[in-house]
Amino acid sequence: MNMKIEKKCIMLALMVSALFIWGTAAFASEGGGHGAASTGKAMTKKEAIKAAVEGNSQFTSHHDLNYFEPYQSGQSPNLTVISCADSRVHTPLFGMDPHNNIFIIRNVGNQIRNSEGSVDYGVRHLPTKILLVMGHAGCGAVKAAMGDYSSETTGIKAELDTLIPVLAFDKGEGSFTERWNKNVERNVDYQVAYALQIYGDKIDHDEMAVVGAVYDFKDNYGKGRGTLVITNINGQSDPNKIMNDPLLKELSKSEIVKHVGSIAPAL
Ligand SMILES: [Zn+2]
Repeated sequence: MNMKIEKKCIMLALMVSALFIWGTAAFASEGGGHGAASTGKAMTKKEAIKAAVEGNSQFTSHHDLNYFEPYQSGQSPNLTVISCADSRVHTPLFGMDPHNNIFIIRNVGNQIRNSEGSVDYGVRHLPTKILLVMGHAGCGAVKAAMGDYSSETTGIKAELDTLIPVLAFDKGEGSFTERWNKNVERNVDYQVAYALQIYGDKIDHDEMAVVGAVYDFKDNYGKGRGTLVITNINGQSDPNKIMNDPLLKELSKSEIVKHVGSIAPAL
């Protein structure tokens, strides 16, 4: 096997294997607003900053100097991830230490174009071999773009306007929730298609792969809450074809079945 492909396979295998173990974890409340992680308990401003500072102290007390030593002079992450900023979506879902491993860019609706320079940096300069576009169940940005957001701030409107092309693929069939769920996946497909446009040279030379996925903490895909469902590899969104993609060669059959899926037709 080509060494580059092999490295990409191993990396994705590690990522999804870790997910397989950790995949059922849910770290935040459903209700949104100002709930504390997992408990849903609302904090005051003072309590929130106190929790953040004390949480950092706990982190440093559990990590000695040797932990930080390997990346004092630079970073060498394996994944570039473009994720939604939603607080229910965080790196622990990968089950691996994100430090010096995950170059993550976040904005509302996990949109490459709204943070293209940052994604470029991860893909072209670090460079990581996997670009993971990660949507998520219950994405408020996708839901907002489906409705009237004219009263939002200029900044929010600008970051929702870029989702409108995704909705052109929504023919209005099914309930609002069904359409919303499918539009989350369509957005991932749309972002992957955009990545193919700007990183096609690197993909053609087998220097990287673009993987689209939905972090499903609502079990919309029927694979269990918290599962990362791969819905696209380098523009291929047919689950049967994704399952046979060489990129997943290091995964077991059961891992592939659990972590590959689709609820929306191809764009
Ligand atoms: Zn979102």
